[in-house]
Amino acid sequence: MKIRVLGCAGTVSTESKTSAFLVNDRILLDGGTICSSLSLDEIRLIKSVFISHPHFDHIKGIPSLAETLIFMEKNPPVSIYGSYLTIDSISQHILNGIIWPDFTKLPTESSPVLTYTGLSEGETVRLEGLSITPYFLYHNYSDFGYLLDDGKSTLLYTSDIGPDAGLCLDGKVPDSMIIEVSFPNSKEELALRTGHLTPLLMMEMLKNLPTLPANIFVSHLKTYFRDQIVLELGALGLSNLTILKDGAVIEL
Ligand SMILES: [Zn+2]
Ligand SMILES: [Zn+2]
Repeated sequence: MKIRVLGCAGTVSTESKTSAFLVNDRILLDGGTICSSLSLDEIRLIKSVFISHPHFDHIKGIPSLAETLIFMEKNPPVSIYGSYLTIDSISQHILNGIIWPDFTKLPTESSPVLTYTGLSEGETVRLEGLSITPYFLYHNYSDFGYLLDDGKSTLLYTSDIGPDAGLCLDGKVPDSMIIEVSFPNSKEELALRTGHLTPLLMMEMLKNLPTLPANIFVSHLKTYFRDQIVLELGALGLSNLTILKDGAVIEL
């Protein structure tokens, strides 16, 4: 499994892009950054986008992706997956014909560039040699993490995740995990109020697992606090922890 990090920050800035992880060049986990990090030839390869939740930093690449797909006359359409609430949020509030066109009806209703598929928790999608299973991981209101399995290794992408979420995946511990840490320990109250983690809150959550994943990749650091969060993650003493950077490529 190859994961290319198009964006992994919790904040947009001149130095940071928001969440999108390209799996095996074909499947996106979240769509916070798409066309600003990929060539047209790379965009042409995208088959599906699995959205964790409809917060703007995780979907803001979708409108410009849709527009680009129209220009390149891509067919078949790109499939957008998510919880039913996430799909409704995107279709009713973003690609609603007011904020941006409804690309599930363009260029024609019979041959659009986007399609939507709502998923239920535990409903596995098999695509491109991968099994992708959504799990509710509480952050905002209807938020999926996705467990990916290619037959050789498993990866859990938690996306944004509050400390109350737990990591109940039917008792499975993934080989690797991309987990978020948005705030430093001094901002724990803000993290709790907004459904995010600090380094210490992440450790409390990981301690509930029977074993630790072999690889722990941390994403979604709020750029303003990045230096402090990096120090605090280092102090945890986890040798298998990697702090992700935009542009990184992970081979699992
Ligand atoms: Zn969020
Ligand atoms: Zn986010």
